[in-house]
Amino acid sequence: MQTQQTGVVIAGGGPAGMMCGYLLARQGIAVTVLEKHADFLRDFRGDTVHPSTLQVMHELGVLAEFLKLPHAVVRHVSIDIGEEHFTVGDFSHLPTACKYIALMPQWDFLDFLAGKAKALPNFHLMMSTEATGLIVEDGDVRGISARGPDGALDIRAGLTIAADGRGSTLRDRSGLRLDDIGAPFDVLWMRLPRIDSDPVDVVGRIQGGGFFVMIYRGDYWQCAYIIAKGSFDAIKTEGIAAFQDSLRMVAGFAADRAGTIESFDQVKLLTVAVNRLRQWARPGLLCIGDAAHAMSPVGGVGINLAIQDAVAASNILGPVLAKGPATLADLNRVQRRREFPTRIIQGFQVFVQNRVLTPALDLHRTPKVPGIVRLMNAWPLLRRFPARFIGLGPRPEHVQT
Ligand SMILES: Cc1cc2nc3c(=O)[nH]c(=O)nc-3n(C[C@H](O)[C@H](O)[C@H](O)COP(=O)(O)OP(=O)(O)OC[C@H]3O[C@@H](n4cnc5c(N)ncnc54)[C@H](O)[C@@H]3O)c2cc1C
Repeated sequence: MQTQQTGVVIAGGGPAGMMCGYLLARQGIAVTVLEKHADFLRDFRGDTVHPSTLQVMHELGVLAEFLKLPHAVVRHVSIDIGEEHFTVGDFSHLPTACKYIALMPQWDFLDFLAGKAKALPNFHLMMSTEATGLIVEDGDVRGISARGPDGALDIRAGLTIAADGRGSTLRDRSGLRLDDIGAPFDVLWMRLPRIDSDPVDVVGRIQGGGFFVMIYRGDYWQCAYIIAKGSFDAIKTEGIAAFQDSLRMVAGFAADRAGTIESFDQVKLLTVAVNRLRQWARPGLLCIGDAAHAMSPVGGVGINLAIQDAVAASNILGPVLAKGPATLADLNRVQRRREFPTRIIQGFQVFVQNRVLTPALDLHRTPKVPGIVRLMNAWPLLRRFPARFIGLGPRPEHVQT
């Protein structure tokens, strides 16, 4: 058994863990981030880099370099209900350096952050290293037990941060209580080819009993097909031809490309969870990102929220850790700062789940267009509100250190 010692050990090299590690390391704190996979090359993790995250990159002085990576720009959000097209969000008036969502493969985003962080001598990234448990002494968390390429190891640290996502191992081991809010649907992810005459946009489509989201990705569309929770096995039993027919019904201008999905191997099921910890911390341990609050894909705001948690944690804890250990009161300050935006956004997601998605899935036909959608389409000024909510979120964080 190897043992290592560091200032802060972070489980999870996703958006929350990588950003938090980078921001703390920038403040001179010794940080070790563990990521269980060998690379960041995983598809369908959500590729949206929101205006608030781009603003964080601007505040860190790395925005221009970051934007040299290939990305697509989305300035508007639209929804198609039946045959009608509505524009419901316009990012071009946000008070940020970038007035748009950048769509970039998440592995490029994480690789970029990892590259910046690894340039700091006190930052250490351990890939292929899975956190398996907590080291607890006298009731205080003192680090992580892990399994890496060379076997088991203990990483002892003054502070442990669980940023290991929705299925967080460390949260499960922590004894912290999780409230399950629930999500009545799952998501099937797939790619459809894009042709030049298609729009450049994020398109939500409600047609028949189906709900389909298409995210512009250059030469293809990344598509999310919403299905009732637990219904994927029944869909597979009906066969690929029936699935292609349902895609044809819902995919609008891309219906002619449904046949490119030739097998269910091209379709990935992502089970959706919405939950929230009552307490995000116990002595020596803080949970952030999806480990503290799993987000539904509604609004595509989970990555944004995870990054905002990381910024708040580093603003609050960096100066404390520079002087000595962080107390439970210090860790609770992070929850106090971030719980309000989390509750508001999850509340919005649950509202959309229950009032829009579930009725649309139950109806088996195209629902009536809500009045608010018509209003937003008619009055461009109104489109700024959803853009602000999605693009910045409540209580946006700024890098203070
Ligand atoms: C179907 C679906 C679609 C979504 N689409 C979007 C979207 O388009 N835009 C958006 O903003 N949000 C989206 N979300 C939400 C978003 O994925 C999450 O909210 C966000 O990724 C949370 O970031 P995180 O860093 O907290 O966790 P994660 O992104 O889950 O990162 C956790 C990391 O920890 C690693 N890990 C896990 N366990 C361990 C362990 N024991 N030891 C070491 N490492 C470990 C994982 O490999 C992973 O790299 C979507 C969610 C779902 C379910």
